[in-house]
Parts: sequence; C-alpha cells; structure tokens
Amino acid sequence: MDAYDIFKKLTKGLSFSSKNKMPKDRPVKELAKENVPVLHEIGENEVVKTPKKRERDDSIMLMSGMNHGEKPEGKKRKLLSEEQLESKKLLLEKEEVNHYRNLNNISVVGRRVPNPARSFEDLNVDKDIVSNLIKCGYDEPTPIQKQAVPIMLEKRSLLACAPTGSGKTAAFLIPIIHHLKTPQRQGFRALILCPTRELASQTQRECLRLSEGRGLKIHIISKVNKAISQYGPKSNQNYDILITTPNRLCYLLKQDPPGIQLGNVQWLVIDEADKLFEDGSRSFRDQLNQVLEACNNNDRKIAMFSATHTPVVAKWCVHNMPGLIRVTVGQRNAATDTVDQKLQFVGSEQGKLIALRDLIRQGITPPVLIFVQSKDRAQQLFNELIYDGIMVDVIHADRTQTQRDNVVKCFREGKIWVLICTELMARGIDFKGINLVINYDFPPSAISYVHRIGRAGRAGRRGQAVTFFTEEDTPLLRSIAYIVKESGCEIPEYLLTLKKKSKKEAKKMAKKAPARDDITTVPLYDRIKGGKKKKFREIEKRMRDKDPKSKKNGKINKNNKKNNVKVKKISFKKKPLGKLNKSK
Ligand code: ADP
Ligand code: ADP
Ligand code: MG
Repeated sequence: MDAYDIFKKLTKGLSFSSKNKMPKDRPVKELAKENVPVLHEIGENEVVKTPKKRERDDSIMLMSGMNHGEKPEGKKRKLLSEEQLESKKLLLEKEEVNHYRNLNNISVVGRRVPNPARSFEDLNVDKDIVSNLIKCGYDEPTPIQKQAVPIMLEKRSLLACAPTGSGKTAAFLIPIIHHLKTPQRQGFRALILCPTRELASQTQRECLRLSEGRGLKIHIISKVNKAISQYGPKSNQNYDILITTPNRLCYLLKQDPPGIQLGNVQWLVIDEADKLFEDGSRSFRDQLNQVLEACNNNDRKIAMFSATHTPVVAKWCVHNMPGLIRVTVGQRNAATDTVDQKLQFVGSEQGKLIALRDLIRQGITPPVLIFVQSKDRAQQLFNELIYDGIMVDVIHADRTQTQRDNVVKCFREGKIWVLICTELMARGIDFKGINLVINYDFPPSAISYVHRIGRAGRAGRRGQAVTFFTEEDTPLLRSIAYIVKESGCEIPEYLLTLKKKSKKEAKKMAKKAPARDDITTVPLYDRIKGGKKKKFREIEKRMRDKDPKSKKNGKINKNNKKNNVKVKKISFKKKPLGKLNKSK
C-alpha cells in the first residue's frame, strides 16, 4: 500500500469544500510541525525512530482535522481544503517513508533527506545500469543502496555507515556511473580512494561490471612512473574514473608539473574512511587536503563510506562538507549479524597452534581466512601449516604485488583453501563465501574485529568466526566480548565482567601489537627428510660449539631467536618455501 492508497482510505467518505476551514488559530501545518516526527529536520546525533502507535494515531487524527478524544468515525467529521489535503498527503508520505526506513534499519541525519528507493527501478537511474545490476545477480537494493543512491543522485555530501558486506561499493558506484554517462574526454571525473591496492582492484572490477556497455575508462594507478606519462597533461583526457590508494596519487600530485589533473573531478569517494583517518595517519589528512586542492572543481562533492564509525571522521565531515547527510544502517560499530562468533581461550601461544590443528582435524569448510598480527608471524604460521597437507598460502605487505595478486586470484578460484593474512586483508575485501575467519592473533581493536570477521557472512550469506585468546589479550577482551554478545552470539558471562581498559591503554594496543612467542611447535628436525637431516645436524653441532648454553640442552633451543634464524635459513631452501622468500 503506498501513500496514495492510505490517503484514499483515510479520506473515504469525506467531501471537500473550500468553505470548511480548520480552526483559524491552529492551522494544520503548524499542528503538524509540533506533533509529527518530521524526519528531515532532526538535529545532529538524533536517530530517527518509528513513531509509537499512539503518536501515529494522533498524527492521523491531526491530519484529518480531528482533535484528541474524537473518534475517527465520529459525527463531527471536518471537511478539508485542498491545501490541507496536500499537506496531509505530504505528512502521510513522510510518515510512510519514516516507517520504511525503520523496516530497513536506516537512520538519517540531515536536512531534506531524499526518500529511500524501494527497488532498482525506483532508483531512477539509467536502464542499462539496472540491467547490469540484475546481470550481477542482485534482485533488490540493499538498505544502504536504497538510501545512499538517491542522496548521491541529488549530489548531496554523504557520510555513510553500513555493516560489512552490505553492498556499499555499488551504493557509491551506481550514482557515479549514472552521472558520468559515457566517456567525455574531460579527464578524471570521479576519484575513489581506498586503503589497499587489493581493495582498489576489487572496486575497479565491480565498477567495470556495473558500467558495462558504456565504455567508461576506469583506472587504477599501478606503476607510478608509467602513470606520469599516462595521465600527464597530454593524455589525461582519456580517462573517466580513478580508483587508487592515497600514497601513489599524492606522489603524482607532488610532481612539477603535477603528474595528474583532477580539476574535473565531480565525485570524491573515500571508502573505508575511518581506516584512512585512523590514529597515527595524521598524514592522511594532509594527503586529503592535497587531493582536495587538486580537485578544485566547484561542483565537487564528497562521499565517505565505512562499516565502522569514528568521531574523527564525523568531525572532519561536519567541518568540511556543507549540507552533509549522515546515513547509518543498523547499529553503529556493530558486527554483522550474519556471522556466528566464538571466543576461544587457548591458554598460551603454543595452545593456539594446537587449537588450530584441532579445528582443522574436526573439519573446516574452505575458504578460510586466518588473521595474524604481523608479516613475520604470517610467514611463521605458513611454515607450520604447509606441512599439514592443506592448500595454504600467505599474503602480507612484504610480498611483491605480483605475488599478492596471484594469491588473491588463486584464493578466489578455490586453488587455495586457507589464506593466512595480516590486517592488510581486513578491510573491504570481498571473497565469495568465506566460511570461516580465524583470529589466530587477537585483533588490535574492536573496530579491527568487526572488519576482520566481516570478511565472512557477506551479501546475506552466513559465516563463522573463531577468535583465539590468551591471558595477554584480556585488556581488549571485554569490548570484543560485548560486540559478540550484541550480535546475538553466546559467550561466557565472566568475559563481560572483566575490568574495563583505559582509553590510553586501548590506543596503545591499537597501535602496537603485543610481543608474542614465535609460531612453531614441531621440532624442525622432524620435518626434514633425507640428506638434509645430515646438514641440519652439522649446523646444530656448529651452533652448539659456538653457544655453550645450547650445549647444555643438547639440541637446538627453539625459543632461542638466534638459533632459530639460522635454522630458518635451511628451511627456506626447501621447495615450498623457496618461492615465498621475501621480496624486498
Ligand atoms: P561492503 O563494501 O558493504 O563491505 P561490498 O560492496 O563489498 O560490501 O558487497 C558485498 C557483496 O555483496 C559483494 O559480493 C557484492 O557483489 C554483493 N552485493 C552488492 N549489492 C548487492 C545486492 N543489491 N544484492 C545482492 N548482492 C549484492
Ligand atoms: P600505496 O600503495 O600505499 O599508495 P605505493 O606502494 O604506491 O604506496 O608507494 C608508496 C610511495 O612510494 C608512493 O606514494 C611514492 O611516494 C613512492 N613511490 C612508489 N613508486 C615509486 C616510483 N616508481 N618512483 C618513485 N617513488 C615511488
Ligand atoms: Mg566495501
């Protein structure tokens, strides 16, 4: 039933005459302003709520010109003027929009917020975009798409927060593609900033799918040197959309003359905004200023998207984006409710590897993503798991771009079942149907937790997440336990009663991961076969001769860092590891 049907129902049996007016001292519009929650003019930080039944009845009575206490079917039915009917219709429409937003868990803050769309057709974008969306297998817009697209179509500034895997990418790509139409040879007209190159290429792929048939030129900066000649003043015209990480872009902008022109950019989108604004990256704000200076088109609008919300971003937006609209889907900073989460106490660092092997033994359904806190630990865990006969690989910032691209490709194609990764993969990456996320190392912050487990349970699918913890992780345990509980998963009650950590402590933890013992359980000797054992024994002997301490033990002490390094060298010569040597 749409607004018009409701309107017809409510006004059934009424006759209209311009003679019948509302009481002069209290015109309908004024009454409406006082009593009906008007969504479009709520103040900052207010969340729009569905009006209670009583309020709804009141506003309906009010709209049909009735006073409190009067029954709708009462005898003293008032007749309405056309003007009054018009405002009544508007109010009903607002009310209905309000209700629709609530059904979709959408809350908005800002002036004159455009109505959410109900279907792709309702978005009023070019037909080819709708058919591309359908080709992608999308049946209807997700809540963030319903609300963000109409806002961006009206060229309003936007700060959007919606859960992981809820289709934010298409939410900003649809209006951009609609606005840009076909190639215009005016140079870049839209710029999308992402925190990682993997996310940039994923966004490029989605953009290519959604704009199929238009011939828009969508680029990511791969080689900086090449880019200067590619996008420089002469050839700049050939491109329409730029998707990039900020460093590269700023490097190009710093050249004299600048290696890239952004004067025609109409849309600047910042994806994973809170990551880019994260503490310690003061530099991003400087970079952003540099980018904004280059995007000097008067028409330029900004839209920011993320699954988590931080005050720094909100503050920047309020100060720098006039006419800002904020949209939040669901609860702020909550984990997606499509993932079954579990927190598992593993005792010690060694306990983690045992717990992981147990999990694998019990049977896991690939694809699985395992998060650790550092590049070194990622490599160490890889060295362990490669012997367990599972198809495993590792991705982190120290691998070359070709290696990184290959790993992502193989994981997408199902050639790798278990992918070990660092925080690099926590943001935005959309692998189809990740079944399980394992936080081998406890995440550095609650926000990181939300994003890591959000790699599973995307686009409405369900997923699982297991997070290992030891006693060292207690400072952050409480806040994450709350997130798990909020999303409806069971946790032991005692976790919620843990001492709350101070803000200072939390900040420190988010910045620097705790020191942890190396990941290794199986003595290396047992893993080495044939002739190499002899070599291993020789090195062992040499080390014993040099280091009297290890002589005492009679064998290589695996906790002895110095020895470990030497030992590792042999293992790196072994075949599966050879190709994984660090490239820097
Ligand atoms: P987010 O950026 O919110 O984390 P993505 O934009 O990466 O999420 O989208 C998550 C997944 O949902 C992607 O695989 C995407 O193809 C899919 N998706 C996006 N929009 C829709 C839709 N309207 N219906 C179904 N699936 C969608
Ligand atoms: P990001 O992916 O985070 O943008 P990059 O790997 O592109 O980071 O590069 C980091 C920075 O290193 C660049 O912004 C630039 O300052 C510098 N850089 C990268 N490639 C080159 C190059 N070919 N020549 C000179 N400097 C470069
Ligand atoms: Mg995203």
